[in-house]
Order: sequence, then structure tokens, then C-alpha cells
Amino acid sequence: MPLSAYRDSDRTQTAFAKELELNGSPEEKAGRFYCQSPECSASMIFVVSSSSHCAHFRALPSVPHTENCVYGRFSEYDPNKFDERSFDFKNFIQYLDQEQKTPNQQTAGCGSEGLNQNKKPLTTLHQVYGMLKNHDPKERLGGQKVSSMLLDDRSFDEYYDHFYGSHIIEAKVIDRWSFAEERTVPNGVQLNSLEIPERQKYYSKLHLTLRVKGKAIIFSVCFKDAELFETLKNQIKGSNTDYKAFDKPFVVVAGNWKLVPGTHHHYTTVVKNKKQIFCF
Ligand SMILES: [Zn+2]
Repeated sequence: MPLSAYRDSDRTQTAFAKELELNGSPEEKAGRFYCQSPECSASMIFVVSSSSHCAHFRALPSVPHTENCVYGRFSEYDPNKFDERSFDFKNFIQYLDQEQKTPNQQTAGCGSEGLNQNKKPLTTLHQVYGMLKNHDPKERLGGQKVSSMLLDDRSFDEYYDHFYGSHIIEAKVIDRWSFAEERTVPNGVQLNSLEIPERQKYYSKLHLTLRVKGKAIIFSVCFKDAELFETLKNQIKGSNTDYKAFDKPFVVVAGNWKLVPGTHHHYTTVVKNKKQIFCF
């Protein structure tokens, strides 16, 4: 349920569903819109709010999202259910890294508590990703720009040459190369910087890629927990036996990212627990 879309094929003018509902002319509301995903060819229409959903954009069944567009697969987020105003990205990332059950939430701004009474805090990566995908990359949530929290096809250019620190990423598995059991290299600087336990002889790695307009970023996700890696691998593959076919090819990872030494556009992180990753 995207809350924003583009008015033009060059994707320079953003249309926000909420704003369009309040101030748009009938002609504007009846117009065709473009998907937020830069390479998606879906033709979108504006849908007014109702008792079950807020105003949003939807792809026409006759011109749907392309296979690589996540909006075709991931659309179940409903902003009316969640307290977006009290979301704090730093707290959330910290919480994913720890054993604690629910993240600390900032209290909402002055005078807004009553409005947020029935809204739940965002506590899972799935919910937070849903929120970020349904807002324009330039919008601010909890004081931070959406694009500064999520690296996806919309913020790709911003991060292509320089990506570092705590972020959520969205990427895809490629083929069987995506799943690797690699031997720990004793003198590997890369491994030391990734905090892989020294005594561990093998570690599991998931290689992902994000491709936009012929350019690609590679992500190598290292797992401390081999069981978690296996579970995720099975979810991604499903019952497919063909090495290029996947049930759930999109993977979302929240981590502390670093450049793989000696490479370009290749970043890595360590996943410690299942709160940090999911596929769809
Ligand atoms: Zn799309």
C-alpha cells in the first residue's frame, strides 16, 4: 500500500496520497502515477481512504509491478495501525542487536499522545521496513530521512560509492552462489573486523545484490548462528530444486555495514539474531 508515487515518468515529482486526498483536484486524483521503484513499469492509480485503509496508490491489474519490484510482493503494511511518530531508528537498531524483547519508544510529541493511543509501536524489522517502503525517501520519520535508514533501489545512487554504519538494506539472492560455507582464513583482516569468533572454522554467508540501471551493490551477510542461516536458506529456496528459482528472493537485513577491504560497492555485516533479517 504505497503512500506516495510519482507524477512523471522521470520520477521527479512526488505525489503523497494524504495530500492528494485533501487538496487534489478531481483530474489530479484520476491521473496515472508511477511506482516508486525506478525500474518498475506499473501504472498506478490513487485510491481514496475508507474504514479499512488510508489513502494510497495501487497498481492497475493490467499494468502490474514488474517482477523485480518489491511493491508487487510487499504491501501489507497499514500506517493506521502503527505509531510512526514515536519511532526512533537508533533505538530500534540497538534493540535488534540485543536480547531485549521490545524496543524503547520515544514518547510522542506534545499534544499528540491522545491521537496515538490506539496505535502500536513498531517492534519488528518487517513492520519498520513496511513503514519505510511506504514513505517517500525524502520524507522524515522520527527526525530521520527515510533514505538515511533504508538502502533500496530508491536511495541506491546516494550510497553506491559510500555506505557505512547502521542501515537496513533490501536486496535479492542471485543463484546458488548466494549461499556459501566459507573457511575462516587465519590471517583474514576482513574476518577480524567482522567479529567472527576466532575458533569457528567455517561460517555461513549469504551474498545478496541490489541492481539498479546496470549498476550493482553486493552485500555479504555473515551469520554467527549456522542454524539461523539454514532456516533462512530454506525459506528463500522453498521447494524449488532449480538453483535459480526461489520462493522468497527478496531479503531485508538490518546491520552495521562496512566496506569489504580491497573492493568497491561490496559491503558486509554480521547477523547475530533472527530479528535482524527476513525474506519475502
Ligand atoms: Zn513497482
